[in-house]
Amino acid sequence: MISVFPEVSSQYLIGGEWKTSSKIKEVRNPAKITEFVGEVALCSETDVTQAVDAAENAFKAWSRTSVDERAKRMKEAAEKLSTVIEEHVSLFVRENGKTMVEAKKDLLRCVEVMSKGADTLLEWWKPVHVEGQAQKVQIRKRPRGVTAVISPWNSPMILTFKRAIPAILAGNTVVIKPATYCPLTVMSCLKIIESSFPPGVINIVTGSGSVVGEALCGDTRVRTIAFTGSTETGKKIMSLSSNSVKKLYMELGGNDPALILPDADLNEAAIKRIRLGILRASGQVCSAIKRVYVHESRYEEFVDKLKKEFERVVVGSGIQPDTTMGPLNNRSQFNFVKELLERSKQIGAQVESIGQKLDSASWEEGYFMLPSIVTNLSHDSELVRAEQFGPIIPVIPFADLDEAIEMANDTEFGLRASVWTSNETAAIDIADRLEAGAVFHNNHTVFQNLRLDFPGIKESGLSQETRWGGLELFTDCYGFAD
Ligand code: NAP
Ligand code: MG
Repeated sequence: MISVFPEVSSQYLIGGEWKTSSKIKEVRNPAKITEFVGEVALCSETDVTQAVDAAENAFKAWSRTSVDERAKRMKEAAEKLSTVIEEHVSLFVRENGKTMVEAKKDLLRCVEVMSKGADTLLEWWKPVHVEGQAQKVQIRKRPRGVTAVISPWNSPMILTFKRAIPAILAGNTVVIKPATYCPLTVMSCLKIIESSFPPGVINIVTGSGSVVGEALCGDTRVRTIAFTGSTETGKKIMSLSSNSVKKLYMELGGNDPALILPDADLNEAAIKRIRLGILRASGQVCSAIKRVYVHESRYEEFVDKLKKEFERVVVGSGIQPDTTMGPLNNRSQFNFVKELLERSKQIGAQVESIGQKLDSASWEEGYFMLPSIVTNLSHDSELVRAEQFGPIIPVIPFADLDEAIEMANDTEFGLRASVWTSNETAAIDIADRLEAGAVFHNNHTVFQNLRLDFPGIKESGLSQETRWGGLELFTDCYGFAD
């Protein structure tokens, strides 16, 4: 068994060398704030420059390796990671707050991204011949160069791997900046796989976004930035990065609507899917349901059924097997959600906090919140318009469909949406009118095939559908004619 700590605590990685910093920040368990989990190094701007130096140097050779070699190394690395999933699950829970089930699922998806990504590379990299041209034309591919991967704290494993892995497979070198609130599992897993690649292919710098993130985005040698996080930070990065022409891939915030139509089949399984769409990872999911619009003819029935479903939620430390919803990840998010709920009450909203406390005695020791259903709130209220990123859900009645679609689209966000109806044709018609990167019918979830991705539109991202696991994002295509 690989011991996780103190192997990555206060460390960072530049050019194959793990370094230790004396400037650190503590990582604590959100289910028990007094519990120390590890330390994260606060790197300097000089560290960032050195990491980019290392990535730039390594790119010369790595970009010229064959796709077979890159795929082989990635498969080897996936194999290594697959043997240490179990020991990482509890670390992940202790620094993030997810339940064991949620954490394990995320970790296993990272292994899948690696092994399936390697297969996809071999299939996808081949030149494409374009017929019917005056010359013989083929479209060929080449990597772009140094790639910055900046990820958030809510699902840091998959959101780092989903970007860094295709970038590496495509022949780029990466400088990864994990989120300060939750960096340890990411670092520890990267430590296990990085030795499968030449030094400098994977570099990691940790520390605050305002120092490390900004230095990385402002480095003119960085050719691509893959950022996942809030819209506000995304905009900052767009402006910071404009000192050179970089390719930006942005996955930003969301405020997903769910539309419940008069003919929706609100059976037990559907209500469970709605609950998961709202409360997975305590609502700290970019594409969680964050607003529910219900036709007035079904409103009372829906609220009643959702309440009964929420009553079964058990809130506690994710380590405990009976827990079905963990704490929020950090104090700032916890306070934001609590205050938002308070402000909603002050303007007359009705708040019902439902569910069970796993352990009332230790409730105050973590960032725990019972899930809340919020009614008697207008579409214009703060809770409806803001991205709450927590287990509190506003439910709003509507009288006609046009009005519901208008409210659903009346937001700067455009990540995901869902339509709940027994009529599939109507669902597709409505989906065509909803402004979202993806629309689900009678579900609100993720695409199971990891090759497929549909980032948000409007201020939820720079939409670019991917069908090849994101390899397209980190590659330049060029034409060759003879
Ligand atoms: P965030 O505050 O935007 O931070 C994301 C990452 O960017 C962190 O690593 C952060 O570093 C770094 N950062 C912060 N300021 C920066 C700057 N000025 N320059 C460069 N980097 C900077 O987001 P978060 O609170 O971690 O995550 C929650 C948000 O992410 C929500 O809005 C959620 O919807 C969104 N999200 C979107 C998706 C998607 O696929 N669309 C997926 C998940 C989450 P530090 O935190 O270490 O300072
Ligand atoms: Mg909202």
